[in-house]
Amino acid sequence: MDQPGTPVFRIRGLCKTYRTGEVEVQALRGVDFQARAGEFIVILGPSGSGKSTFLNIIGGLDSATSGEAWFKDHALTQQTEAALTRYRRDHVGFIFQFYNLVPSLTARENVKLVTEIAREPMKAEEALALVGLEGRMDHFPAQLSGGEQQRVAIARAIAKRPDVLLCDEPTGALDSKTGIRVLEALAKVNAETGATTLVITHNAAIAAIADRVVHFANGTIASEERNAERKQPAEVSW
Ligand code: ADP
Repeated sequence: MDQPGTPVFRIRGLCKTYRTGEVEVQALRGVDFQARAGEFIVILGPSGSGKSTFLNIIGGLDSATSGEAWFKDHALTQQTEAALTRYRRDHVGFIFQFYNLVPSLTARENVKLVTEIAREPMKAEEALALVGLEGRMDHFPAQLSGGEQQRVAIARAIAKRPDVLLCDEPTGALDSKTGIRVLEALAKVNAETGATTLVITHNAAIAAIADRVVHFANGTIASEERNAERKQPAEVSW
């Protein structure tokens, strides 16, 4: 893991246009952004403002139309499909609103799917303990609550020790109490592994737990601010 504060992402003039038949949508219209190692960043903004498109491009899941996106010394906007796949596998952990666990596998086995193909993974048990699921390792997804399933998904994402953790509405399907447990797991993982963490949310209250808050509007970053103090997830309510 890099020293805290080392630049991790450098994004300049990022644009993305989707074309569906005759229709063009400009999802990103020149995004400039930087992130440093270990930062916890919350991304807010109305639906359709480009947040997911941005996260998908910097996570190597989608390609930009123009502009530059660097992850350390990798120019993401000039990579082949194969290189982007390697980038995602070696450096990025994703967490989405829906957990996508394999229903026929236990929590431990779901995490092991990843640790078996990663280069220097943590043990599945260690990843599950980090998110507070040491007592639930042999449960199947159907035997776990939504919040617990999301924490298994976080354990799966962090077990390969990613440099960056990209989370798209990780609490979107959860009530506030279980959502807060999920945010606690993310904050703990960020503090203990040093993974640079970006969290997209509709929920402005969650911004209080971040180092920095980025506001998307209409395909650009309209403003951003740094929190003088970070709240604990348990201090946040919605
Ligand atoms: P947000 O995450 O802020 O809700 P998105 O990045 O999902 O915003 O979407 C930005 C814009 O791009 C929206 O107008 C959306 O409809 C459009 N868009 C997103 N993905 C696609 C796609 N695969 N094809 C066409 N349009 C898309």
